[in-house]
Amino acid sequence: ANADSGAPTIFDKIIAKEIPSSIVYEDEKVLAFRDIDPQAPVHVLVIPKFRDGLTQLGKAEARHGEILGQLLYAAKIVAEKEGILDGFRVVINNGSDACQSVYHLHLHVLGGRQMKWPPG
Ligand code: 5GP
Repeated sequence: ANADSGAPTIFDKIIAKEIPSSIVYEDEKVLAFRDIDPQAPVHVLVIPKFRDGLTQLGKAEARHGEILGQLLYAAKIVAEKEGILDGFRVVINNGSDACQSVYHLHLHVLGGRQMKWPPG
């Protein structure tokens, strides 16, 4: 299983535009881009531009409250832009047991098909 080493991740290169991505939304604090391996017709990742210790949600501290709110609000903006406001899912995989593979906090915004519950 993949562990949280605190090392820089591929998302730093995406933020720096050193590797290309399909950007859906961007502001000063947040970047949203299409997942390279989409699990639904719409699958967008929403990340903080400054990781600031947020390798995973489990590392969140009180000082992260503002960016955490901004990420969730950006997820709504993405859903709106992608036309899935009537049905979408926001997922955060935390740690290897939850299948987190990139240790830079990210929200998955998924939609465009019927979702199942429980996710498994
Ligand atoms: P996790 O498994 O950590 O919750 O999600 C990481 C996500 O990042 C995966 O869905 C994976 O497909 C996506 N991903 C990994 N590398 C890249 C990349 O280089 N570009 C893009 N657009 N997505 C990536």
